[in-house]
Amino acid sequence: SYPLSTTVTLPNGKSYEQPTGLFINNEFVPSKQHKTFEVINPATEEEICHVYEARKEDVDDAVDAAEKAFKGSWSTADPAIRGKALWNLAELLEAHKDTLAAIESLDNGKALQLAHGDVALVINYIRSCAGWADKLTGQYIDTGDTHHTYTKREPIGVCGQIIPWNFPLLMWSWKVGPALAAGNTVVLKTAESTPLSALYASQLVKEAGIPAGVVNIVSGFGKITGDAIASHPKIKKLAFTGSTATGRHIMKVAADSNLKKVTLELGGKSANIVFDDADVKTAISALVAGIFYNSGEVCSAGSRVFVQEGIYEEILREFKAAAETLKVGDPFDLSTFQGAQTSQMQLNKILGYVDIAHQEGGRLITGGERLGNKGFFVKPTIFADVTPDMRAYKEEIFGPFAVITPFKTADEVIELANDSEYGLAAGVHTKSIDTATYVSNKLEAGSVWINTYNDFHQMVPFGGYKQSGIGREMGAQALDNYTQWKAVRIGL
Ligand code: NAD
Repeated sequence: SYPLSTTVTLPNGKSYEQPTGLFINNEFVPSKQHKTFEVINPATEEEICHVYEARKEDVDDAVDAAEKAFKGSWSTADPAIRGKALWNLAELLEAHKDTLAAIESLDNGKALQLAHGDVALVINYIRSCAGWADKLTGQYIDTGDTHHTYTKREPIGVCGQIIPWNFPLLMWSWKVGPALAAGNTVVLKTAESTPLSALYASQLVKEAGIPAGVVNIVSGFGKITGDAIASHPKIKKLAFTGSTATGRHIMKVAADSNLKKVTLELGGKSANIVFDDADVKTAISALVAGIFYNSGEVCSAGSRVFVQEGIYEEILREFKAAAETLKVGDPFDLSTFQGAQTSQMQLNKILGYVDIAHQEGGRLITGGERLGNKGFFVKPTIFADVTPDMRAYKEEIFGPFAVITPFKTADEVIELANDSEYGLAAGVHTKSIDTATYVSNKLEAGSVWINTYNDFHQMVPFGGYKQSGIGREMGAQALDNYTQWKAVRIGL
């Protein structure tokens, strides 16, 4: 059968040992049916390796391991022990940061320079979670009677976590970090196209002294492995990041099984709004960060750009010029800004929307085609004069594809921005603090970035309004997802 690890040679000539098994009980194991699936490099379309595919019986094993670990000392020990283990993990991630960034770039296709940024965020976030472990305190409540009443925060139990392929390791950290800090144990499924970095990091989980069974990683596909997690009766909490359609589906599955608690981080079609008085240079860099960062494969992508009439043609000109100077190509070239899309499916989806936008009467400003014929590269794409009835305006494309719409007044753009089933993020670009405050107060979005965009920090909560999700990740709020309050009243 397939080996449990394999030597992978990176495009920079270095090589490393890639674990390929499922990670259960702090060991890499083959799946029961010994099935594997292929992992490819999106920049070359060549095979990197195979990894084992978890089926229901493997998920059962992982859940049993996680339940045993939860009932063991992990959830009841001095929280400082969990904090120490998470801190150790952050140190190890730091020591392996170059390899982790390279794996992420190889597997996802993203530019290596961006992968380094992802890994830096991962390390900061795991450190931040280490600090939370012993700060989840309850309260004494003075009820005005003789009873002694207090609350405490307790972990939930075994958590099922399902993550996407756009930020594989960052999503792993947003899921595993707060769950562990609060004393839970996890069974995490990576996305089928990007399983490698979480498997590599699993070695570090063990080395950090995190006990067996606390973190279990099951590579596999949504309909089999993901479904086994979402429907599992022993999983008490489900955290999902991915598309709104899948989120809606797994919420039903979770409800029908054991009504497990669900948090969802879903899609978006976020508005990035430029007012006449914006600083053009700052606004352009925010528009670029909004839609071209991470090849546009970002749930909070500023994919609907609104520009006030007075500055419309200037922004079109500058945005086009900026898009055309972005270096697209070999992810391992450190000067590359935009690497490959993660899969053929994503490339086809983007090119499909180019056809749709043409048919709908959008005006192509730049891009709109594949780059080369090997690897899933696409040119940064901008369509102008896009109207709210067009599909390219309404639907999440998940690629480097911006649509631009002019507007006249703040109230008009607020209405346009909010006229979406999504509500993940928004950007506002203006020099006026009045405009910035007025507009951001009215936007239906979980994050509002003013004169900046896609600007994440481990202390700042992130999550969606409306159909963009339920719950928040990062910040103090992430711990709410992984704790439940117990109220105790003592009759005296
Ligand atoms: P998806 O939502 O189907 O996949 C995300 C994760 O869910 C993966 O791990 C996948 O295996 C798992 N999954 C899929 N079906 C499942 C099921 N029935 N039960 C349990 N788990 C399941 O997303 P996708 O198909 O990879 O991408 C499709 C579109 O979703 C993209 O084009 C993009 O628009 C959107 N997307 C959004 C995000 C985000 O962060 N908001 C991330 C990835 C994809």
